[in-house]
Amino acid sequence: MAQAADAARAVILTVDDDPGVSRAVARDLRRRYGEVYRVVRAESGESALGALHELKLRGGLVAVILADYRMPQMNGIEFLEQALDVYPGARRVLLTAYADTNAAIDAINVVDLDHYLLKPWDPPEEKLYPVVDDLLETWRATDRRPVAVTKVIGHRWSARSWGVREFLARNEVPYRWYSSDEAEGRRLLCAAGADGLRLPLVITPDGTALIEPNDHDLAARVGLATTPAARFYDLAIIGGGPAGLGAAVYGASEGLRTVLVERSATGGQAGQSSRIENYLGFPDGVSGAQLTDRARRQAAKFGAEVLTAREVTGLEINGAARVVRFSDGSAVAAHSVILATGVSYQQLEAPGVADLTGCGVFYGSALTEAAACQGHDVYVVGGANSAGQAAMYLARGAKSVAILVRGPSLSSSMSYYLVQQVTSTPTISVRTNTVVEAAHGTHQLEQLTLRDTATGGTELVDAQWMFVFIGAAPRTDWLEGTVLRDPRGFILAGPDLTADGRPPAGWELDRPPYHLETNVPGVFVAGDARAESAKRVASAVGEGAMAVMLVHRYLEQS
Ligand SMILES: Cc1cc2nc3c(=O)[nH]c(=O)nc-3n(C[C@H](O)[C@H](O)[C@H](O)COP(=O)(O)OP(=O)(O)OC[C@H]3O[C@@H](n4cnc5c(N)ncnc54)[C@H](O)[C@@H]3O)c2cc1C
Repeated sequence: MAQAADAARAVILTVDDDPGVSRAVARDLRRRYGEVYRVVRAESGESALGALHELKLRGGLVAVILADYRMPQMNGIEFLEQALDVYPGARRVLLTAYADTNAAIDAINVVDLDHYLLKPWDPPEEKLYPVVDDLLETWRATDRRPVAVTKVIGHRWSARSWGVREFLARNEVPYRWYSSDEAEGRRLLCAAGADGLRLPLVITPDGTALIEPNDHDLAARVGLATTPAARFYDLAIIGGGPAGLGAAVYGASEGLRTVLVERSATGGQAGQSSRIENYLGFPDGVSGAQLTDRARRQAAKFGAEVLTAREVTGLEINGAARVVRFSDGSAVAAHSVILATGVSYQQLEAPGVADLTGCGVFYGSALTEAAACQGHDVYVVGGANSAGQAAMYLARGAKSVAILVRGPSLSSSMSYYLVQQVTSTPTISVRTNTVVEAAHGTHQLEQLTLRDTATGGTELVDAQWMFVFIGAAPRTDWLEGTVLRDPRGFILAGPDLTADGRPPAGWELDRPPYHLETNVPGVFVAGDARAESAKRVASAVGEGAMAVMLVHRYLEQS
């Protein structure tokens, strides 16, 4: 019993290669926090990472990590960078000598350091405890997810097993994966009375077993908010990518009762990026998951309500109210709406590809599947930045990565910095003038037929993994008859709606539509879904913020 209570306590982890210092930090921490937190100490980055992994598997919480900067093998910054992947919500402190303060300052960007502490920290009452007190308070306010481990029992080549893992990972729901053909997986299937023919089986922390659940049921069972708390809001935002999250932060922080509705997982396309290197303020790049985590916490901090796994399928105008209808027929109303629905991956149209999606063929999911590609040959289809980033990420573990590009070169579609990275990575090769003609495999991808568009020749290659990044299109059909769009489905707004200075048909106000306003007053668009938008994280965030400013203007006048 005492052991169980101990395991349930959140952890403060400290790592220092000097045993004396390590013991001293742990002693000081225990003295002040030992009753509430479990203080865990390690004497190397590797063993600290080991401890973090173990805690993660058991569903443990980690509140604060203190790491010494100068450690052999893995220094404190390298360790914190890896620890961040395991526990992104844990607050991070670097212990440094005075001479290393520059390294500590650099680390603020690299690992999003919360604090650096100069050694020695005596007296702790003055130098250590105030810092840790603050960090614990921040952690408690933002990371109070229950200690819970959802179990997913599935098979690598089951498309829905992959879908469930992707959904849980992108929503930062901790889960543990068991293969259905491993002993523990079989035991869990048996305990749930499942035959294993329909996978995955999901066991929620309270012991409920769900077979092949859809995203909506899964979200509700693992504690993600799926139903609005109110019936009427000042602002409803549709889409939880950078534009939607940006709008939620600004809307809620400026006092608007704000609800954000997301079909799948917050982060949108950016959430799938392994490293965004051109977003202002992150000179060393930031992963989409980290950016999303921070944005979501920021939106929540200001009081925005975020609904997950709710697809919006209709927009109705009911007098001054804008009614947002969900796929199950229920609805929520608001004074104003921001459409931030972005774009979705285009499907690769070739025989065999659709059937093998999730079974070796993936769209933009390089992050969750990368570990499984370890030591394998991988194909990445596409010549734009998203394909380049994925190739760089996959190349960390894959035996080889071949980028298949339809055009004659990479440089016309990929940023210069990425072309440089790709071409200087020995395990990445680029095959230009190449298209996928067909995908073959019975239960999983086994081979690809590639065609050289210059010569017309075809080649059959063995392949277990193919990641497709061939452009994207907006999915805005549900706005038909309400909101005007261009022939490709992108939403028209502001000046793009006016012809010869005349407002769009049916526009009844004296003023023309505001810059990001659609043909429906009070309904705005931000980010990639807008016609002629920049298709960048920064511009999507910026448009989200600007749309909120225009919402205020609209509300003042209506
Ligand atoms: C792999 C990858 C790497 C990238 N790297 C970079 C980079 O390094 N730098 C950069 O500047 N840009 C990058 N981009 C582009 C950048 O991510 C996008 O420009 C940006 O995400 C657009 O933001 P958004 O909010 O407009 O749309 P999205 O990110 O597309 O988000 C839209 C959201 O709306 C949701 N949604 C859609 N329809 C509905 C509905 N009916 N109901 C409810 N929710 C809905 C979707 O599920 C999605 O979460 C990258 C894109 C990808 C795919």
